[in-house]
Amino acid sequence: MSQLSYEPPDWAYAFHGHRCPFMPLGYRMGVLALSRLGVGREMDHTLHVICELGEGHPQTCLMDGIQAATGATVGKALIEKTYWGKLAATLWYPGKTAVRYALRPSFLDAFGAQEFFAYRMRGIEPSGIPDGVTDQAVAWTLAQPDEEVYAIEERPDFTYQPPKGSFNRTACSVCGEYVFERYVRIRDGKPVCIPCSGYKG
Ligand SMILES: [Zn+2]
Ligand SMILES: [Zn+2]
Repeated sequence: MSQLSYEPPDWAYAFHGHRCPFMPLGYRMGVLALSRLGVGREMDHTLHVICELGEGHPQTCLMDGIQAATGATVGKALIEKTYWGKLAATLWYPGKTAVRYALRPSFLDAFGAQEFFAYRMRGIEPSGIPDGVTDQAVAWTLAQPDEEVYAIEERPDFTYQPPKGSFNRTACSVCGEYVFERYVRIRDGKPVCIPCSGYKG
């Protein structure tokens, strides 16, 4: 088996905006999962990733790394969050057994001793942390064996139903803007967009 590269390309750091250890951990998760599923980086609209991350907690940078590695991007509607506040993701591909990767608590506990986190705990953003400190944290993660970083679980019962695609659109009878079919609502017998419909959802 060829050696997988876990080091994110420079464009992934440029996209992410700063250097940090969690984007590379997500990137590595994506590289490992694609290899396990036996599929390449997603060019179109097949692979789907369900992240268990939430918001308002650190480490959500993982998700940018997963997108960079897998091509399952927000823009292609191939990645979503459950808002469970957990550092894990399930990757689904039709015809394959879905697989879940989670960062191990033992790994996170050891990782927390890195100087990088002393800066973060003082409220310093990653772009303000000296490069050497960040590089050391990234290098430390890369030195840890895959099985000590990630708990991996096959999920043979996991299913995902992609939404049916449609190019059909209708003009809202109130604002005149186009709305794609599945989002059209009817008010007084006329098609309206959700904001003009007066109800939420
Ligand atoms: Zn980051
Ligand atoms: Zn409207």
